[in-house]
Amino acid sequence: MEDIVNTCIICGETGRDGIVVVSEFICDRCESEMVRTDVCDEKYPFFITRLKQIWYKKNA
Ligand SMILES: [Zn+2]
Repeated sequence: MEDIVNTCIICGETGRDGIVVVSEFICDRCESEMVRTDVCDEKYPFFITRLKQIWYKKNA
């Protein structure tokens, strides 16, 4: 396997550990934070906004 360094689409940090959603990288830190984030949390709309940007880009 190549040593691929990805850039997280949520926080912009680079890293190798994380998940790829719709070919976009989300670092393990943001991923676990998203999992923990409640719908009522003020951060939740931020995550959704970032994810929507990916989806719109892919569906454009
Ligand atoms: Zn991140």
